[in-house]
Amino acid sequence: MRPVRLMKVFVTRRIPAEGRVALARAADCEVEQWDSDEPIPAKELERGVAGAHGANLKVISTMSVGFDHLALDEIKKRGIRVGYTPDVLTDTTAELAVSLLLTTCRRLPEAIEEVKNGGWTSWKPLWLCGYGLTQSTVGIIGLGRIGQAIARRLKPFGVQRFLYTGRQPRPEEAAEFQAEFVSTPELAAQSDFIIVACSLTPATEGLCNKDFFQKMKETAVFINISRGDVVNQDDLYQALASGKIAAAGLDVTSPEPLPTNHPLLTLKNCVILPHIGSATYRTRNTMSLLAANNLLAGLRGEPMPSELKL
Ligand code: NDP
Repeated sequence: MRPVRLMKVFVTRRIPAEGRVALARAADCEVEQWDSDEPIPAKELERGVAGAHGANLKVISTMSVGFDHLALDEIKKRGIRVGYTPDVLTDTTAELAVSLLLTTCRRLPEAIEEVKNGGWTSWKPLWLCGYGLTQSTVGIIGLGRIGQAIARRLKPFGVQRFLYTGRQPRPEEAAEFQAEFVSTPELAAQSDFIIVACSLTPATEGLCNKDFFQKMKETAVFINISRGDVVNQDDLYQALASGKIAAAGLDVTSPEPLPTNHPLLTLKNCVILPHIGSATYRTRNTMSLLAANNLLAGLRGEPMPSELKL
């Protein structure tokens, strides 16, 4: 019998159990892992990928639905196949978006802080008032998988009107929410709550800038769960600090992590989370399993469960 040549797989980060087990069970692979939550140092990466099939480079499997971190032109040129993890994180990310919206518009971090620091004295009619969703207009930038899942969750809060933007109208998806397709300036001007849920592309980079914030209502709340670079953070800081807009909630920033001395962190009306959109145990496990199966299928020359169409 001819000896079977094992394919070398090098995993560059500690991943959840389901993905790890799927790789370990693959009889045709020899798996090595950088067993740390922290990014692998360059030297260790070079050592680990020496001889790995992925590094030749045939297949990239990213444990994310976003693929803005990949050099797509080069990948296309070299005929590399890419696996990614759409759908399995949609509900979890939408849940986080709604949590962040409610946290921001009802000023929960400020309120929690006041309980701890003695600022809570008596019941006061106007103290810590925020903005509620009932009878509001919600604008969603990017009515994709996550954008729709957010709208679906917000509808029962009594939202009166949904607006959305994108490259083109999506009448079939929009029908569920009677969402109206509008231009970006119209969405900025008419929405009480704006949620950014689009992908980061050259067209969306810096989309939310000074002009955009200028058009927003002074009582409006801005939420971004897509990618930090969709927002011009200096312009957002000015809009928040000057009271041009009421508040912002960000799950994503530029850069990540955001330096602890960043001006946005000095503002009470800005809530910042460390990119935890898909961070539940169940979802991260499912993502790791899908990423492992994408990788194995790619290495074996089989159809991937979720392959990015390049
Ligand atoms: P989809 O591909 O389903 O949706 C992407 C959306 O972006 C589409 O609605 C698309 O609208 C919209 N879009 C693209 N170009 C433009 C544009 N020029 N202007 C306005 N909208 C545009 O992806 P998902 O919903 O699954 O994910 C969306 C993004 O969310 C990901 O790319 C990722 O960056 C981010 N994400 C963040 C997470 C987190 O942890 N915070 C977790 C998961 C994802 P149309 O096609 O109609 O133009």
